Amino acid sequence: MILAHKGFDVEIFERMDSVGGRNRMIQVGDYKFDLGPTFFMMKFLIEDIFKSTGEKLEDFVELKEIEPMYHLHLRDKEIPIKKI
Ligand SMILES: Cc1cc2nc3c(=O)[nH]c(=O)nc-3n(C[C@H](O)[C@H](O)[C@H](O)COP(=O)(O)OP(=O)(O)OC[C@H]3O[C@@H](n4cnc5c(N)ncnc54)[C@H](O)[C@@H]3O)c2cc1C
Repeated sequence: MILAHKGFDVEIFERMDSVGGRNRMIQVGDYKFDLGPTFFMMKFLIEDIFKSTGEKLEDFVELKEIEPMYHLHLRDKEIPIKKI
């Protein structure tokens, strides 16, 4: 995105049949599976990338804030992890 915005002729090569890397999703019948992250802890990094190209992250993706971000279940303990 940043290189294209700076005027470079950017071409993306991907060895898999869809882009996204570890953020890809696969669909088996009606079911969709995340292959990697289910949440982003450092949203500001992605916002900065979009901002540096004159775009707004929220114009492209809908992100939902969740609180707590997740719960760790350790035998008899449950630990809510709050946002940083
Ligand atoms: C189970 C799991 C959970 C995760 N959870 C989180 C989370 O909650 N929050 C978070 O922020 N991060 C999480 N991550 C980490 C996050 O997914 C990675 O940091 C991020 O995807 C890395 O991006 P990348 O573009 O550097 O690499 P990748 O996503 O690995 O992308 C590299 C791409 O290059 C392609 N490629 C490789 N070799 C070639 C080649 N020779 N020719 C053409 N294409 C090639 C690959 O197919 C791939 O599409 C998680 C990862 C995993 C696996």
